Amino acid sequence: MKYAFPPSNVASVAVLGSDVHFPVHRIYCVGRNYAEHAREMGIEPEREAPFFFEKPADAVVPSGATIRYPLATENFHHEIELVVAIGRDGANVSREAALEHVYGYAVGIDLTRRDLQLAARSSGRPWDAGKAFDESAPISAIRRAGEVGHPSKGSIWLKVNGETRQSAELEQLIWPVPDIIVHLSKLFALKSGDLIYTGTPAGVGPLVRGDRVDGAVSGVGEISLQIAV
Ligand code: MN
Repeated sequence: MKYAFPPSNVASVAVLGSDVHFPVHRIYCVGRNYAEHAREMGIEPEREAPFFFEKPADAVVPSGATIRYPLATENFHHEIELVVAIGRDGANVSREAALEHVYGYAVGIDLTRRDLQLAARSSGRPWDAGKAFDESAPISAIRRAGEVGHPSKGSIWLKVNGETRQSAELEQLIWPVPDIIVHLSKLFALKSGDLIYTGTPAGVGPLVRGDRVDGAVSGVGEISLQIAV
């Protein structure tokens, strides 16, 4: 096979305690998976089936990076999230088998151009411009499930310039990881290399140039990010 020009590099994420990298296939994200966050977005949460949106694989950014303030927004938000890394293909996965598809876990930030997302939401248009932009998926190194287990409890938090903005417990997830895998795999055939951002707790808010962002999920890892001046 000859390409017209060199293809883009495969997007990847470091794996803790290993020299292999996790090659990213797709990035899925769950919307409104913590009740208090749904409320702060003006939506009364109901236990309807979870809904999903996507980001491009090359939106991943490693922890410790400095990113540019994105194009075309004046309301750039942080959303700290537990991320599931998929290591086994499968469609219509059963709840019993769901966790067998998990390679590991990481800490991610679903960066959002909130002004563009809300404009899309109110006009019934797709969320892509608000969610699926360059450098919109910072992620820590992945911890393999064999090491960390399958975290369903523990704190999740994010600070901006040392000040706590988001602080919650994984137990508050409306749809826990096995349910997310069940629902997502009814819509899309999961593939090794998929990442699933599982939703953010309350406290989302704006980032500005020069901000320092730190976050963590207990037992999973930590993430830091610098917004360029
Ligand atoms: Mn999110």
